[in-house]
Amino acid sequence: MIPDAQCYDVIVVGGSFAGMTAALQLARARRKVLIIDAGLNRNRMVRRSYGFLGQDGSSPDDFINNARQQLLKYPNLVWLDNVIALKAEKQDDGFIIATNEDKSYQAQRLVLAIGIIDKLPDIAGIDELWGKYLFHCPYCDGYELNEEDIAVIGTGHESIGKALMLPDWGKVTLFSNKVVHPDPSELKHLQARGVSINDELIEQIYVEHNRLAIRTTDQQIHRFKGGFLLPKTQLASPLAQQLGCEIGESAIGPFIITDESKQTTVKGVFACGDAARTTASISWAVGDGASAGIGAHQSLIFKDIFD
Ligand SMILES: Cc1cc2nc3c(=O)[nH]c(=O)nc-3n(C[C@H](O)[C@H](O)[C@H](O)COP(=O)(O)OP(=O)(O)OC[C@H]3O[C@@H](n4cnc5c(N)ncnc54)[C@H](O)[C@@H]3O)c2cc1C
Repeated sequence: MIPDAQCYDVIVVGGSFAGMTAALQLARARRKVLIIDAGLNRNRMVRRSYGFLGQDGSSPDDFINNARQQLLKYPNLVWLDNVIALKAEKQDDGFIIATNEDKSYQAQRLVLAIGIIDKLPDIAGIDELWGKYLFHCPYCDGYELNEEDIAVIGTGHESIGKALMLPDWGKVTLFSNKVVHPDPSELKHLQARGVSINDELIEQIYVEHNRLAIRTTDQQIHRFKGGFLLPKTQLASPLAQQLGCEIGESAIGPFIITDESKQTTVKGVFACGDAARTTASISWAVGDGASAGIGAHQSLIFKDIFD
């Protein structure tokens, strides 16, 4: 242990949906918990989030702030706001986290709830529209498109699956964008689902009269109520790699491999939420967070089972 590090039972890195849920289980188990959070939850740009029971249509800011206020009532929980955990290291008797404030914290267990970063394709105008007119999850944001015209921005082969699902939410055009190449059976399936395909490259995306406007290289403008894409992703922080956790690779990006208790391949390190799954939503992040929090707690007691 380093001499002036502050000691906790568990450090949770990431204070969003997954991390707060993990911390709540641990605080209620009367363990000493530290949350370190940089405050950059993945959906921070959206006005409303949908599909979480009891919070359908809530603003993510309100959702997170309410949850945080509830957590802060536990005297055994400490929250470091707008702080980045820069370095994680395994020691003989636990783990050390060093932050961007030049401080170190020690714990017996770590929960990584760090989330992922969306790497949007290089198309003019796309960044400002992410979470406002462009989304990744139809279950989260499809209903509000009112069965109107929907664009799918091709980012790779997996865009075909997205285009095949979306006719349940509206009339779909798939922009292949020179990176989506359906085979004959996929083409037949797309056709049967009523999906139109546009093979022109997208030049620019913008909003005009409250509609998503897509300009293709043939200078045609296509208008939609909204659009979907599956961006490639990356882990929001290199902590898992620093610790030697095994990382898997899904069609869209890396994720931290865990077992059913959400323990990673490094004993004592748990991971949850978008960073440790191949599917993403608040409901899943919360469920994952509960598993990780309970797993981390029980691993402090039933050491032989978790070893
Ligand atoms: C545009 C968009 C719209 C969405 N809409 C919905 C919706 O309507 N409904 C729904 O259910 N889901 C929606 N989602 C998905 C949802 O946002 C994610 O599934 C959810 O945020 C995952 O929660 P998480 O806690 O795993 O990660 P995040 O919410 O991304 O939180 C991770 C936290 O960890 C922090 N962090 C990372 N690294 C460090 C570090 N080294 N040190 C300190 N802190 C760190 C980050 O700053 C952040 O606060 C949407 C996503 C996007 C992109």
